[in-house]
Amino acid sequence: LEPAYQFMIRVRTPAGFATPKQWLVMDELAHKYGNGTLKLTTRQAFQMHGILKWNMKKNIQEMNDALLDSIAACGDVNRNVMCSPNPNQSSVHAEIYEWSKKLSLDLLPQTTAYHEIWLDEEKVVDTAGEEVEPIYGATYLPRKFKIGIAVPPMNDIDVFSQDIGLIAIVEDEKLVGFNVAVGGGMGMAHGDEQTYPQLGRLIGFVPTDQVVDVAKHLMMIQRDNGNRSVRKYARFKYTIDSRGLDWLISELHSRLGWELEETRPYHFDHNGDRYGWVPAENDRWNYTFFIENGRVRDTENYKLMTALREIAEIHTGDFRLSPNQNLVLGDVADSNKNNIEEIIAKYGLESPAEQSALRRNSMACVALPTCGLAMAEAERYLPSLITKIEGLLDEAGLGDEEIVTRMTGCPNGCARPAIAELGFIGKGPGKYNMYLGGGFTGQRLSKIYRENIGEEEILSELGPILKRYAKERDDGEHFGDFVIRAGIVAETTDGTNFHKV
Ligand code: SF4
Repeated sequence: LEPAYQFMIRVRTPAGFATPKQWLVMDELAHKYGNGTLKLTTRQAFQMHGILKWNMKKNIQEMNDALLDSIAACGDVNRNVMCSPNPNQSSVHAEIYEWSKKLSLDLLPQTTAYHEIWLDEEKVVDTAGEEVEPIYGATYLPRKFKIGIAVPPMNDIDVFSQDIGLIAIVEDEKLVGFNVAVGGGMGMAHGDEQTYPQLGRLIGFVPTDQVVDVAKHLMMIQRDNGNRSVRKYARFKYTIDSRGLDWLISELHSRLGWELEETRPYHFDHNGDRYGWVPAENDRWNYTFFIENGRVRDTENYKLMTALREIAEIHTGDFRLSPNQNLVLGDVADSNKNNIEEIIAKYGLESPAEQSALRRNSMACVALPTCGLAMAEAERYLPSLITKIEGLLDEAGLGDEEIVTRMTGCPNGCARPAIAELGFIGKGPGKYNMYLGGGFTGQRLSKIYRENIGEEEILSELGPILKRYAKERDDGEHFGDFVIRAGIVAETTDGTNFHKV
């Protein structure tokens, strides 16, 4: 008798896009084979948890029938390509969505192994009997690779956390190309200062129609030069930091046969989501739900999953998973807006405005009990910690203050805590390293403030800092900027000095 091994399936959804039909399929599969919930991830993908081994194949086949797959959702390949999730907000967003799909498809591994193993298809080989893998070759990449596209002024995808971060440049209301940032990445290992989170660095501007070429070549530079001996030093950031940005730029230009242009001006305001109803350009609407830590489920008093299922049954637009683990109902027809509002009211779905700004700007990874790498709780714990920090904010008279707060169960950094203004990274059961000073727009890494502390100490450390912030802050000064100006932590100017206090 085989033990009931259970698995997680991550579903690739470039730009977090799903049709209502696909949403219904995910909902159905989560109930049929999973634990009856869906997790919307920080990379705009779905995760289904609790799939028993003997149901894996059926689950993947039924996903496939709905044109959903798990290809490159994991592994040493280019992962789910992210992009700002409001395509109908403007024609630019719609265009960016198409580019993120194209990048995802063009950088997809060509192997048919997935189809053979899960979909019972024939193995496809060339005339020499070999599988053809033109970009990845025989050995794939040294490690995972991540690409995302931001549309200023929103940095919702945390563009500087990506191996390749693309910043859309719009001139005369037209998308003309992208600034290219390289070598971002959040992961590190506790106790090894050779590993660190890093921000992407800008290397120039690429016109729109050449962006796929640039992405391919950058990925192939990493394929050929990344560290294949020590896995924890294998990310693109370490390849760049060990050889220098000038080396990378010159290698890229030489492979392209032409040069990137000068970086163009851009400006980011924030890295969060815009909640509630937002009018789109085409007489339609978007509605962004706040989904705490991306977990879609029904509880006795809050039937979120049922409500979203009912919405999917009548919605004629689309669903977009946000990089902040929220959900955007996109392209809502004016004629359907009232029907959707009725369902929202019927199930008492919380208006995002009812949540504190602190909670709306918070994010946690899955962690325990389903992530095998977790050292501490995150998704199941952060909501109660936020409630306690809300109390501290009230005491300090700060009320509805936006502070970007993130927690992960381990230093892999899936919820990007190293760029949060207030970050917690799991060290052991109930213990976290506490970080301060990340940038409100995702432009700066944080700095460790206290190591290996539990809830009591977190609150006793944070209370006085928030009181000082309330009293001493400048007009409009964000918390992350204040803690640096006040000398509470030093500024992290580069990932290579992340661990220097
Ligand atoms: Fe990622 Fe670590 Fe959280 Fe697991 S515990 S989801 S690996 S950050």
